[in-house]
Amino acid sequence: MTTNVLVIGGGQAGLAAGYYLTLAGIDFIIVDGSSRVGDSWRNRYDSLLLFTPKGYSELPGLSFPGKKEQLPNKNETADYLETYASNFQLPLHLNTSVISLNKSNGLFYITTNKEDYIARHVIIATGPFHKEAIPDIASKISTDVKQIHSASYKNPEQLSEGDTLVVGAGNSGTQIAVEISKHRKVYLSSGHRPLLLPLHIGGKNIFYWFDKLGILKATAHSFIGKKIQSRPDPIFGFELKKRIKASAITLVPRTIDAKNKSIIFSDGSQREFTNIIWSTGFKPDYKWLELSHVINERGAIKHERGITPESGLYIVGMPWQHRRTSALIGGVGLDAQHVVNEIIRDH
Ligand SMILES: Cc1cc2nc3c(=O)[nH]c(=O)nc-3n(C[C@H](O)[C@H](O)[C@H](O)COP(=O)(O)OP(=O)(O)OC[C@H]3O[C@@H](n4cnc5c(N)ncnc54)[C@H](O)[C@@H]3O)c2cc1C
Repeated sequence: MTTNVLVIGGGQAGLAAGYYLTLAGIDFIIVDGSSRVGDSWRNRYDSLLLFTPKGYSELPGLSFPGKKEQLPNKNETADYLETYASNFQLPLHLNTSVISLNKSNGLFYITTNKEDYIARHVIIATGPFHKEAIPDIASKISTDVKQIHSASYKNPEQLSEGDTLVVGAGNSGTQIAVEISKHRKVYLSSGHRPLLLPLHIGGKNIFYWFDKLGILKATAHSFIGKKIQSRPDPIFGFELKKRIKASAITLVPRTIDAKNKSIIFSDGSQREFTNIIWSTGFKPDYKWLELSHVINERGAIKHERGITPESGLYIVGMPWQHRRTSALIGGVGLDAQHVVNEIIRDH
């Protein structure tokens, strides 16, 4: 099948690109390996509540239903994305996974598990989270210890009885630690003290103030942007503090080694656990992309505001692609618009 633009990935980034391509009257198709729009949200842990309120979790052109100040859960977010796709009649080919992408004579050739596509432009919108990043020390840990990555964590019922170590105190690691601490003792390991920020100030959600202070629009190279990037990601709300006070969670330093059931921390202390949750992030995986010159030494795609070194190849949805909010639902639209404007210029 031939199309002007092929968008790979129908999550929020691909849908936002689709919205602007529709407005520009450009012929395009979005392919996605999953069977339903919103599945990347549906597949996350059961209790996931977004830290961005509904009013700041919107794609261009469609309001999030419900009260703007309310934090949406993962299923509401998935359903919002599904409604978005049908509202703008975005041409989605679901259950269609890209297996390879190459370029010849100015055209991109894409093979999938279904049909093949030829496109003049390609927008990669496969998200920042591909392969689970688990430290090598995991292989030294006894098989009696249950180990899972946060991407496979759904709820505390998956765990064995006994003490649980959550490694990584980002927003998901912290939310998961707080949830598990209602069922068993939790140790939360982090190389830094979590930076806790209130969810509300003066009766308004903190994102309202971030917006007013220009933080949401701060670009990666600006003074504010650099300052934010030099600090750990903040954790919104004080649930963690309450659970630490109740001795249900104990903070421990960075996890550096392991021996059998014992985990060794950077201060030399060690402790045994029956469960470990690795909330240690993800690695990029573009094995289907046969254009090695666009991949950097960390396996990520080289780009400047979404424009890659390969003419006609773009990316949307990367963290700090241009702003703090580039990989958030409320911010991805601006980057999608920028990339589509480049395609219009190239038309
Ligand atoms: C635990 C957690 C909490 C978060 N909380 C918030 C929050 O509160 N607020 C907020 O704004 N953001 C939040 N985020 C961040 C962000 O909004 C999400 O990561 C978002 O899902 C990224 O959207 P995306 O479209 O870029 O990628 P994804 O949602 O990952 O979508 C990528 C799509 O590409 C498809 N795909 C991948 N490879 C292929 C292929 N080879 N062929 C075809 N299709 C392919 C996938 O099936 C998928 O549908 C959170 C993330 C996590 C993990």
